[in-house]
Amino acid sequence: MPEPVTPSGVEAIYAEVRRLTGADVAVAPPELTEASPGIMSVALRTPTLPPAAHTACYLVGAGEMVAVDPGSPFPDQQAALVEVIRERGELVAILLTHHHGDHLGGAQALAAATGAPIWAHAATADELPAMPIARRLVDGEVIEVGGRALRAVHTPGHAVGHLCYRDEATAATLAGDMVAGLGTILIDPSGGHMATYLASLERMIALPTGALLPAHGPVIADGPGKLREYIAHRSMRERRVRDALGSAPRSAAELCAVAYADTPSFLWPLAERSLLAHLVKLVEDGVAVDDASGWRLL
Ligand SMILES: [Zn+2]
Repeated sequence: MPEPVTPSGVEAIYAEVRRLTGADVAVAPPELTEASPGIMSVALRTPTLPPAAHTACYLVGAGEMVAVDPGSPFPDQQAALVEVIRERGELVAILLTHHHGDHLGGAQALAAATGAPIWAHAATADELPAMPIARRLVDGEVIEVGGRALRAVHTPGHAVGHLCYRDEATAATLAGDMVAGLGTILIDPSGGHMATYLASLERMIALPTGALLPAHGPVIADGPGKLREYIAHRSMRERRVRDALGSAPRSAAELCAVAYADTPSFLWPLAERSLLAHLVKLVEDGVAVDDASGWRLL
């Protein structure tokens, strides 16, 4: 029996937000749709961050295919995915974008059902000692499958080993958790890094990027536009965090109430994680200092 994957700090936060929002999942049978030419998507129910309640598993290739992020830990969803794959052909590999549970909750079950190996970035494999990662993908590597070519693009920041996968023919990019079509992307300082995340968003803009196919929510047709919007939103938030700082130290809770005054207070436990990621960046930028009693301007 494969060992269960231990929930990370981020998943504990997701669980808390689900509890606070009373979010429940809609039970509908998974449906296969064409997300982009040659790329199929099946949204599977997962324990993820509300308002999202699903993680899209993308199938790339005709006849022979790869599956990206089979995230559901629920047996009914896993069985539906296996059925969809069997109808379409042979699964040659399971690709992961990163190590969070809502992206890999069904990986080992799918591997067991199909015999397909699991591939991921080395830093993702390092986060998952109990999961057999058969191949460690590197930035720029091209995976050819069923008439399509997918290029792995290392985009750390949300998670250290995060990979996007770009379809070389159309530039449509499987975006994992770099952006969301529904809800938001959490940069949690326990495993994420804000400055690195922003640099990865910039890198994606500089690369040929077409539509973004996120793990959560619908396809984003204007990929570069969405990436610029994310960068603008994070800089707006960084300004608010900086404006909330003064010469006297303030606690994270005090700063959160000011910098996230536009966010419902029940979400502040989550916002506080994001605030901390911004504070880490401001400290690294030489703008703020973290002393024993809180954060203040340098
Ligand atoms: Zn994630």
